[in-house]
Amino acid sequence: VMQTTEGCLKDYDSLTPRLPKTGETIHGHKFFIGFGGKGANQCVQAARLGAKTAMVCKVGKDSFGNDYIENFKQNDISTEFTYQTKDAATGTASIIVNKEGQNIIVIVAGANLLLNTEDLREAANAISSAKVMICQLEVTPAISLEALTMAHSSGVKTLFNPAPATADLDPRFYTLSDVFCCNETEAEILTSLAVSSPADAGKAALVLLERGCRVVIITLGAAGCVLLSQAEPVPKYIPTEKVKAVDTTGAGDSFVGALAFYLAYYPNLSLEEMLKRSNFIAAVSVQAAGTQSSYPYKKDLPLDLF
Ligand code: ADP
Repeated sequence: VMQTTEGCLKDYDSLTPRLPKTGETIHGHKFFIGFGGKGANQCVQAARLGAKTAMVCKVGKDSFGNDYIENFKQNDISTEFTYQTKDAATGTASIIVNKEGQNIIVIVAGANLLLNTEDLREAANAISSAKVMICQLEVTPAISLEALTMAHSSGVKTLFNPAPATADLDPRFYTLSDVFCCNETEAEILTSLAVSSPADAGKAALVLLERGCRVVIITLGAAGCVLLSQAEPVPKYIPTEKVKAVDTTGAGDSFVGALAFYLAYYPNLSLEEMLKRSNFIAAVSVQAAGTQSSYPYKKDLPLDLF
């Protein structure tokens, strides 16, 4: 079992020629509704690779919440700890994307912020018997910390994705992370260093490693990722496939979900090999439109990834 505690968001995407100005109304040419939220995306990718997963999260007792639970079921994700509340609406993300692929996003976290200590207690047995626990920052930080603490104290491997990142991240997040995985922007926010090359990422990873995590991974979009670990404190650059990107939304979540799958099911692989394979899977996800809709299934991937 692999647990993930985190955000579920119903995504409302409008494709427009450009982003509107304040007070302006413009015409878009396409609208679609999708399932998003980092935790949910990561869990969906891990499940599609064959991981046994559960989502510990909260949605509203509303039609979006029902839809989300149905989406988890369709992806073979356990919803035993997916709670529904009457006290808030299911989280939403309103996304406007221009023709250059740039976006502006408003998230209303709603029910995500109501995930509480009692909910975690209810899931305690499942959490402590999991192989990997993934956490992000789309629920209240105190709950993410509590979930990581529960996992860590039971010897469950913790994979922490500090997203969305804030500069004042509680220092306990570092010491509770077996694997700390973020993208360039998040690394910049957390370290105040500019990160735009593998060499920069190596420097930022060192700063993060020194805060107490065992392994740091910084993803670099089309350039792949950088790995640094306490066991081998020399940055390793792991390039990815050259592909024609159609939509990179959610690539980082595909990567994290894939990494969690390898940590749980192929613990004897080297980290470098796990990252090569996670790069490959995330590179597949950027070649189709949408977020979860672009995540590959095991059956669509080369056999040597398994
Ligand atoms: P995020 O989605 O959080 O911004 P990144 O953009 O760093 O994260 O992407 C995460 C991973 O997805 C990368 O490490 C890489 O493996 C893969 N990826 C992203 N963009 C591309 C691309 N254009 N071509 C190939 N792989 C990509």
